[in-house]
Amino acid sequence: MARYTGAVCRLCRREGMKLYLKGERCYTDKCAITKRNFAPGQHGQGRKKLSNYGVQLREKQKAKRFYGVLESQFRKYFDMAEKQAGITGENLLRILETRLDNTVYRLGFASSRAQARQLVAHGHFMVNGHKVDIPSYLVKLGDVVTVREKSQNSPQFKELKESFKGTVPQWVTVDIEKLEGKIVSMPSRDDVDIPIAENLIIELYSK
Ligand code: SF4
Repeated sequence: MARYTGAVCRLCRREGMKLYLKGERCYTDKCAITKRNFAPGQHGQGRKKLSNYGVQLREKQKAKRFYGVLESQFRKYFDMAEKQAGITGENLLRILETRLDNTVYRLGFASSRAQARQLVAHGHFMVNGHKVDIPSYLVKLGDVVTVREKSQNSPQFKELKESFKGTVPQWVTVDIEKLEGKIVSMPSRDDVDIPIAENLIIELYSK
């Protein structure tokens, strides 16, 4: 399971926006975007006009970084999206949203996608009663995602029950007492609150 292991705040600085990769810290003054909102590296503060290709590339990189997906997997999702009926860009975002790690994050069971990915990989979740430890697993309509019984008594999930804010997107519902979430509809474009121009990604891959 390949993943990016470098400094994540650099990724936000490269994209010039918060990608919310560090959980609570992202909402504090310690956020690197609040302190140094320019690209990392020696020439990071220089102004640079991007070509069309550069703009499309940055949009793809932003989406990949938001969801913590590397190039080969992202390309695979694009191929899947292209084969599905409907608008390819929206299909792509729906596929990314329905990854199990993103779903766990959207359910409010983790403070960032990175933490959700780790919790899933460590085997803390079940889908429809079966343990699933693959972050890229794609959930479907009607699936039930539950914290495994033996994980429910861990301090982390006990604390989650007490601090849970109850704000979840409309495509999922949560029963926090049971530490359980359900996929009640497939995420639509409006459910994706991330500023991504998916049409630019499609243009890039369609060249
Ligand atoms: Fe990005 Fe969060 Fe780091 Fe801020 S604190 S730069 S939002 S990962």
